[in-house]
Amino acid sequence: MYLTKLGVLETAKLIHEKKVSCEEVVKAYLKNIEARKSLNAVIEVFEDALSEAKKVDEKIKNNEPLKELEGVPMIIKDNILIKGKKAGCASKFMQNFVAPYDATVIKKLRDAGVIFLGRANMDEFAMGSSTEKSCYGICHNALDESRVPGGSSGGSASAVAANLACATLGSDTGGSIRQPASYNGVYGIKPTYGRVSRFGLIAFASSLDQIGPLTKNLEDSAKLLEIISGKDSNDMTSSKEKVEDFSKFDMKKTYKFGICDEVEEKMKNIVTKPVYDSIMKRLEEKGCEFVHFSIKDFNLCLPIYYVLSTAEATSNLGRFDGVKYTVRSANAKDVNEIYLKSRSEGFGEEVKRRILLGSYVLSSGYFDAYYNKAKKLQQRLTKQLTEVFNSCDAVLLPTTPNVAFKIGSKGDNPVDMYLEDIFTTIANITGVPAISIPCGKGENDLPLGLQVLTNKFEEKKLYSVASYIDALLKGENA
Ligand code: GLN
Repeated sequence: MYLTKLGVLETAKLIHEKKVSCEEVVKAYLKNIEARKSLNAVIEVFEDALSEAKKVDEKIKNNEPLKELEGVPMIIKDNILIKGKKAGCASKFMQNFVAPYDATVIKKLRDAGVIFLGRANMDEFAMGSSTEKSCYGICHNALDESRVPGGSSGGSASAVAANLACATLGSDTGGSIRQPASYNGVYGIKPTYGRVSRFGLIAFASSLDQIGPLTKNLEDSAKLLEIISGKDSNDMTSSKEKVEDFSKFDMKKTYKFGICDEVEEKMKNIVTKPVYDSIMKRLEEKGCEFVHFSIKDFNLCLPIYYVLSTAEATSNLGRFDGVKYTVRSANAKDVNEIYLKSRSEGFGEEVKRRILLGSYVLSSGYFDAYYNKAKKLQQRLTKQLTEVFNSCDAVLLPTTPNVAFKIGSKGDNPVDMYLEDIFTTIANITGVPAISIPCGKGENDLPLGLQVLTNKFEEKKLYSVASYIDALLKGENA
């Protein structure tokens, strides 16, 4: 049991020092996956995982040189391509699609020696905040199965918290890594837009999507991000900005934190406020300072996000037409019916809602009123937020308004679900990096997350600040 509690770096060390075989590690995880099947976090276990582990053990036996993460088992969200494996975005429309190539992040992890154990459950096409909208069925929170794991990377977060893998990958367009990380008490980062290649990530909203790791500790998060980051000629939006050694934390004695007035205003009505207040108090006791600032457009984050993301989704999902990639309707009699019936039968309700919203905001009569306006506001908001970093090291805010909610409790009104993203979308809209770290407990002793944001491409600083707070909360640098 103790084996599966360990993270990426600790596991690699044990295997490489021959204290444990890779086969033992993989078997222990497979056993956990079986034991926690009711979570429905893993939708497919790869049958070659064990033979991959045996190959690693063979290499070790022959004293061959080992890669940095040789033998470390990970689980991957169902929208990231692994050559020869299914990648279906938890959509029944895509259930037969087999990835023809590796996503760049997968190639990089493979080159670092990672073993892929299986695919993680998610909301269909990454649209959602609860992983209740999956063709594989509802996924459950690892800490309380009557609750949602968050979404859309709910399977990835639940799998880390339940020790079903050393770490996982998720994707974040409006909060889909950070919110589930918070709900399951694990660490999840959305990197700066452009930090990680999106090649091989099935697109939701291309100008907002980023891939990131979900982990049991900060060191693993930083190491995995270091590995998957960097310019990629297959993704022209990937940045050539230098990838620093994120995992070498460079902690200062004190920090200056930015607190947004509009977030504070929202928090007045939030039951978890005392948890965040007490963190601020502890940081203050350590000599940290707080700078209060106003982002007038903060309340527009959600509308901006839902205009831009649905517009882009409408366009990205146009390629799924029953001809290529997707399942073709058996009831179609001609080519028009192939498109119409395949899409009508294939997409789930929430995905259809997003396509309708997106088509509306892009339609000629409303393009200026919605899409163009959202684009302009996005620029203004980005300017407002990035200027804040001139006077502080990092901005702090909660990840979610509350702990994980009960399964089925936000079913009736889609806007209830959209409100989940109230604190997370700002990082996607402005492109800055944001991490969620476990920061305390709320109702029923369930975990809460704190977000740390820095300016674009300041992941090294982000990890240093996050590890400062993490250590303080764990009582390590008191
Ligand atoms: N919950 C948000 C949505 O439904 C975010 C999803 C995501 O980040 N992929 O769009």
